[in-house]
Amino acid sequence: MAGVYISYPFCAQKCTYCNFASGVFPKQLEPLYQRRLLEEIEKTNWSWTPETIYFGGGTPSLWDTGEVEAVLAAIPGAPWREVTMEAAPGSLTEERVAAWARLGINRVSLGVQSLIETELRRTGRKHTAAIVESDGALLRRHGITEINLDLIAGLAGQTRESWQQSVEGVIALAVPHVSVYILEVDEESRLGQEVLFNGQRYGARDVPSDDLQAEFYEYAVERLAAVGIARYEISNFARPGHESLHNLKYWKLEPYLGFGADAHSFDGQWRWQNAEDVEAYTNGAAAPEREAADTAGERYWVGLRLAEGVPEGDAAKAKIERLIEDGLLERLQDRIRLTPRGVLLSNEVFQEFLSDGSH
Ligand code: SF4
Repeated sequence: MAGVYISYPFCAQKCTYCNFASGVFPKQLEPLYQRRLLEEIEKTNWSWTPETIYFGGGTPSLWDTGEVEAVLAAIPGAPWREVTMEAAPGSLTEERVAAWARLGINRVSLGVQSLIETELRRTGRKHTAAIVESDGALLRRHGITEINLDLIAGLAGQTRESWQQSVEGVIALAVPHVSVYILEVDEESRLGQEVLFNGQRYGARDVPSDDLQAEFYEYAVERLAAVGIARYEISNFARPGHESLHNLKYWKLEPYLGFGADAHSFDGQWRWQNAEDVEAYTNGAAAPEREAADTAGERYWVGLRLAEGVPEGDAAKAKIERLIEDGLLERLQDRIRLTPRGVLLSNEVFQEFLSDGSH
């Protein structure tokens, strides 16, 4: 069964490490965006009933709950199995969370990133460890127990000790799902630009080395596994039965429809992406070009993200043998999956399956 992604690109501030098409926009753009989004959803000819909905962004937890209700009312399939709201710690209020619970939102993903105040301030985030803790308690009081906490390995100033403190702090909050991302350094974020061009703003000189970031990641994998939160995808960890149903669809090549600026869609055969620019989208930028999906190759470079790997099949045999010899893939009966070293070098492995048509 398929999923729906809703993009709300508005944020209270632009975080230094953020490379998404989100940020701070004029307040008057919001009602226009809302109207365009509803139009896009309402003109959809649903050939399947959605099973999961994911509000991402941006900071959709800042969205007026009446507007969220209007969006949900336009999507068929209620009550859905899983409805996730991405949230910035500190943006939750009693009324907001009560409304979410009433609307069927049953999973919240909190962008914690770190529990160390000095690291958070350098990113532009304003929350504290105490706020994360009270947000968790507030969600649980309203019956929302499917909580994910995001962490980023590689923030400026992060040390072995501070990383351990963040990981241990997240474990102490006893949530069923944790995501651990390694800092992405590219020209799309302010911090990324500083790092790439040897600048010093946003603490760029204090970004931990790649080796240290890999060590942080492995520490998290080990510690989370030790408390029963196993890695099921490169960046995602859950107690059994608490995996994100919506995100699993991406890795299992199941269809999903995305609405809003920069939202991606896949119908099992074709992929397309809405205008990335929020104003262009709001002004009704022309319908996006569709591209035929390369499902034979994607089966590997999307599916290999999963800890369970993918069925081996008959394609790309020579390539798979070579990656096994190099210690990046391993065979488990009729499936192949990344080895621990392959996880750290996963981009190189995925590149192999993208690089030519021999899959
Ligand atoms: S990291 Fe999240 S909150 Fe920060 S600017 Fe990006 S989308 Fe907004």
